[in-house]
Amino acid sequence: MKKIIHAHWEIIATHNGCTLDYDCICSNCQASGTPGDEFCPSCKAKMDRPTVNHTTLAY
Ligand SMILES: [Zn+2]
Repeated sequence: MKKIIHAHWEIIATHNGCTLDYDCICSNCQASGTPGDEFCPSCKAKMDRPTVNHTTLAY
């Protein structure tokens, strides 16, 4: 039986130079990814929760 990893994207704010960038990471393996992707490209976790936004910025 195949084990399904459940995770979600976490949006993190990163400072790139003097501008504030927003990136997201897998909650399971911390690999960076694209918000909205259904599976993590790194650990194949199923993103079964909406993207968690740690900021107040709405997408
Ligand atoms: Zn992952």
